[in-house]
Amino acid sequence: MTTTFAQLGVPSQITDALTEKGIVEPFPVQAAAIPDALAGRDVCGKAPTGSGKTLAFGLPILAKVQKARPGRPRALVLAPTRELAEQISKELAPLARSVGRFVFAVYGGVGYGGQISAMRKGVDILVATPGRLEDLIEQGIVDLSDADLVVLDEADRMADMGFMPSVMRLLDQTSTKRQTLLFSATLDGDIAKLSKRYQSNPVRHEAASVETDGLDAVHHFWLVQHHDRTKHTADLISESGKSIVFTRTRRGADRLAKQLGKLGVSAVAMHGGRSQNQRLRALDAFASGKARALIATDVAARGIHVDDVAAVIHFDPAGDHKDYLHRSGRTARAGATGTVVTLVTHEQKRDVLKMQRAIDIDAPLASPDLGLLSGSGHRIEPSPGKRIDERRTSDRRRRTNREPRRHADRQDRPIGESGTQRVYVANLPWKTTDGDLHSMFSRYGVVEGAAVVTNRKTGRSKGFGFVEMPAAHASEAIKALNGSSLGGRDLLVKVARPRN
Ligand code: ADP
Ligand code: MG
Repeated sequence: MTTTFAQLGVPSQITDALTEKGIVEPFPVQAAAIPDALAGRDVCGKAPTGSGKTLAFGLPILAKVQKARPGRPRALVLAPTRELAEQISKELAPLARSVGRFVFAVYGGVGYGGQISAMRKGVDILVATPGRLEDLIEQGIVDLSDADLVVLDEADRMADMGFMPSVMRLLDQTSTKRQTLLFSATLDGDIAKLSKRYQSNPVRHEAASVETDGLDAVHHFWLVQHHDRTKHTADLISESGKSIVFTRTRRGADRLAKQLGKLGVSAVAMHGGRSQNQRLRALDAFASGKARALIATDVAARGIHVDDVAAVIHFDPAGDHKDYLHRSGRTARAGATGTVVTLVTHEQKRDVLKMQRAIDIDAPLASPDLGLLSGSGHRIEPSPGKRIDERRTSDRRRRTNREPRRHADRQDRPIGESGTQRVYVANLPWKTTDGDLHSMFSRYGVVEGAAVVTNRKTGRSKGFGFVEMPAAHASEAIKALNGSSLGGRDLLVKVARPRN
């Protein structure tokens, strides 16, 4: 039995509006935080990007928030970046309408006119980045003393970006009867202090660790020549579709976008050096599919979510494993699959291997010639105690990753004259079992063994496998099955390379 938003206490006008958007089942962080927040408790939530924080705080706020007087918001959401503020307000706007409330975002880098006139009309829920909000307060446009519902979203990021003093000054101006909800990917250091100082008796929820981001992605690492990186990136985008490419620097992002354009791959760059309008335009072009690739720096891409991102390409390897997971989490969201490729030059090898160890990933640095279907990709496994999609847990099977399983009836089967052929099958949906492989191939002859290769430690499928058949039957099967579609994926089926 699954919980519904209504069972968590969310009012029906809001659940109706959610249903219209196809959102019916709460994510874990929502199921955990919403009842407490509705009950008036302070909540301190540890949750990574993509876990559904916006609705976790947004729904209780929408259920509770009073109508504001001009310039005096009743609820305040502080977010680290313009993009996040804009996304939160966009996601909550239709829901707010359903309960007759108005949500608006203010942030720097754009003119004051629109923000001032919105505040004059009255903003019930104000979403803001700290800098611009302080600015508006100084100008006498905003007064926070009626704000009795306050959210700190991505508090760790605000701390990283140096907003802590500003956040504290702002919190000090809000209502003393305030309810405070704090969400962060980490809850130590500055965040612990912030919680201690500004929350009273908070309930603490840890929804999932950041390691579960991009869990269903297959991670590849390609050892490449420095000057070939653009070409590989173009090829990857052409093959995968909608891709986000990360570069280390703003200039690198601009340059790459231009070079990709010359290679016929439409790309837009998004980074902190561009104006707010340019960034929003880039994001829109990418989300709508007008541009196939978004080239971004870490800061600019933090927390943004675009649906159906097929691939994340680390053009420059991530600075550390945290950035790696954040970047990679832009794909394979909400149970979808995705591909993550890191381009690694010889000079970067050591750092990348170190980073791999930090996230417990054991992917070899492969040659790009093998492509995405080479089976060199790896999945990141959730550590014990972390949230694992139920569907996945119940479906998890123990397998070995060595030899294809021998079927008991093998001896009774005729073996082809030219002996047994080993067939390599890649791009399998993760649910595929040994039995599935067996029955798929037995339509074309005698299957002597069939196994999906799995991670030895976790039993999780690596998305490829091997089948052994008499050679004549194998070639029939390869002809029939290569390029065919299974669970929406195009299978790669070919003669396996001889084992060494
Ligand atoms: P976070 O702020 O934790 O990074 P978001 O709140 O932006 O995550 O949510 C990530 C994505 O998941 C958004 O596209 C959002 O619309 C979607 N989403 C959130 N909650 C649900 C839900 N209960 N069911 C389906 N989709 C959801
Ligand atoms: Mg968010």
